[in-house]
Amino acid sequence: LLFRSSPPRAFGGCCCYHHGRMEEAAISCPACNDTGWLVVEGTLRAKPCECQLRQRKRQRTESAVIPKRYLHCKLSSFRDRGDVSLASARNEISGYAASWPPSEGEGLLLMGRCGVGKTHLAVGVLLDIIEKDKPGKLLFTNFQDLIQQIHASFSSDEAPSKAEILAPVLQADLLVLDELGSQKPTPFVQEMLYYIINSRYNEQRATIFTTNYFDESRREKDETLDGRIGERLRSRLWEMTQRIIITSEEDYRRSLGRRI
Ligand SMILES: [Zn+2]
Repeated sequence: LLFRSSPPRAFGGCCCYHHGRMEEAAISCPACNDTGWLVVEGTLRAKPCECQLRQRKRQRTESAVIPKRYLHCKLSSFRDRGDVSLASARNEISGYAASWPPSEGEGLLLMGRCGVGKTHLAVGVLLDIIEKDKPGKLLFTNFQDLIQQIHASFSSDEAPSKAEILAPVLQADLLVLDELGSQKPTPFVQEMLYYIINSRYNEQRATIFTTNYFDESRREKDETLDGRIGERLRSRLWEMTQRIIITSEEDYRRSLGRRI
C-alpha cells in the first residue's frame, strides 16, 4: 500500500500516491509554479493566478454535491427541442441566473412532467453561478434524500447530530431541492419540511424546487402538488418562488433511450 507521504499542495500538483515523493510531483500550473500568485511585471505586487479561480470552481462544484449525472448540465447546453414551453422556461431560468443573487431570496418552482429537463435547468443555475464566480453557498439535494436526512437526524442521537445534518440545507444561499413530492411525507416529516423551508424563507435564502406535480390535475388520476406535500407547505411556496410551468409532454430521457 502506498500512503500519502506529505500533505497535498494547495494548488493542484501531483497527489504522490504513485510517486511517493513530493519533489517529483508535476507542476500543474506552470504560470505560477503552483503558488497561486503571479508577479505583476515591473512591480513588486502579486495578483492571483487563474488557477486559483479554477481551483475555487472545482471546490464549489464539489461542495454543491451535484450528482455526477448532472455535472454537464449547463444552461447553455439545454436544448429546447423546438418546444415553446421549454424555450420559455430556459429563458426565464437564464434570467434568474443572470440576476443572481435575488434581492429578497426569491426562488423558483419548476413544474413539469418526468424527463422534460427540470433538473438540468436547476443544476444549470448552480453551474452558471460557479462559472461566473458569483457569491453564495450552493447545494443540490433530492427530496427523498432530504427526507432520509430528516429521519436520520431524529432516529439517532449519535454523531452527526441533527444540527450537523440539517445545517447545510438550512444555510445554503441557494438550495436546489429536486423532485419535490416524489414521496408522500408523513405528517411528522411534513412538519420538519415546513420548518426547513420556512426557515429558509425567513432568512431570505433562495430555493429552486423541481416537481413532477402541478397545481391542477392535467390528466385524470393526476395528484396535485398540494396533495403530495400538504397545503401549508404549498402555500408557503407561493410566497417564496416564481412558478415556471413546463407543459411539454415529451420525456426526452425515454426518447434518447437513456437517463439524463
Ligand atoms: Zn497558477
